[in-house]
Amino acid sequence: MSKQNPRVPGRHFLQIPGPSNVPDQVLRAMARPTIDHRSAEFAQLTHRVLKNLGRVFQTEEPVLLFPSSGTGAWEASLVNTLSPGDRVLAFETGHFATLWKKVAIRLGLEVEWVEGDWRHGVDLEALETKLAQDADQRLKAVLIVHSETSTGALSDIEGARRILDATGHPALLMVDTISSLASVDYRHDEWGVDVTVCCSQKGLMLPPGLGMTAASEKARAASESASLPRSYWDWGPVLKMNRKGFFPYTPPTNLLYGMDEALDMLLDEGLEAVFARHRRLAEATRAAVTAWGLENCCLDPDGLTDSLTAVWMPDGHDADELRKVILDRFDMSLGTGLGKVKGRVFRIGHLGDMNDLMLAGTLSGVEMGLALAKVPHQKGGIAAALDYLSGSE
Ligand SMILES: *Cc1c(COP(=O)(O)O)cnc(C)c1O
Repeated sequence: MSKQNPRVPGRHFLQIPGPSNVPDQVLRAMARPTIDHRSAEFAQLTHRVLKNLGRVFQTEEPVLLFPSSGTGAWEASLVNTLSPGDRVLAFETGHFATLWKKVAIRLGLEVEWVEGDWRHGVDLEALETKLAQDADQRLKAVLIVHSETSTGALSDIEGARRILDATGHPALLMVDTISSLASVDYRHDEWGVDVTVCCSQKGLMLPPGLGMTAASEKARAASESASLPRSYWDWGPVLKMNRKGFFPYTPPTNLLYGMDEALDMLLDEGLEAVFARHRRLAEATRAAVTAWGLENCCLDPDGLTDSLTAVWMPDGHDADELRKVILDRFDMSLGTGLGKVKGRVFRIGHLGDMNDLMLAGTLSGVEMGLALAKVPHQKGGIAAALDYLSGSE
């Protein structure tokens, strides 16, 4: 498939934190003939996919799919539940939180923005203070990015719910789980989340192209009176048609074949095992980073996501130069620094269809790259990671 000349032998290492590697089994499932999207066979596919997707979101509520990127699901979350001029509370955890905020502003919402340093998750004390100050309950929603893919910080959603409950604040809780769902434990129902936003190309092991949302009863009730303009993103017709197994437009049939297969794979492995595998790969990566003498972008050791590791570069060294050396020499793509941490951070994706030896290869590429790019570091990252992997289950 590569148009590179001369040919690069072997497999490209796609170790960005999404799109993640798509398993051959999923690619094969997608290479089947497209069927009539108004047929009984299609309705069965829809019902099966939506039921299994609910198990991955850990919800009994409906999950909606849109042919879109994650950004589309962000927009859907806002236009379905809010009205012009409504106020929402959001936290500057990093690049993705900032982008979601920008969507809200462009849609005509007012955003109460809690600034952050891009090296921590959501500050729950700040959440508590903001809610307590909002005596006349002008805040209609709280927006949180669970796993901030630009920094590697994981925010405490259960804790956020507890604070909303303790303050008795009725704001909707909206969570972006784009780089956590199917990688890090996440419970839409148990944690009382109103709107969960996700998309296909990260933990779900699919190509880009599907946005998805789980919506609580409270969120669906809010959509009855919400008055932001909406057409394509309107949940109403989707929920209605989905009940019969169909969509109000032509759905991406072959992506749904892939999703059907990917969900089977995840549920066969078992969600607990999937989360434990991501934890193991993340711990091994952290062991390597520590042994190299480098720092994580996220400074809270208890607040790291298991789906990727964002590594902070020593002063005076450019992360993108290191990434270029690694790509040119070893045919491996690592995630670039985004927004405010451009050049300061490179990101190792270890989410989705990953195992020990894929991680060992990935970390080897990083360690060799650090030497070639003359980035100050200590040897022994690989050894530390392998010790961890061979010593833990
Ligand atoms: C990847 C990502 C997005 C953006 O998704 P797109 O499909 O590129 O629109 C949003 N939020 C988080 C946390 C992400 O990791």
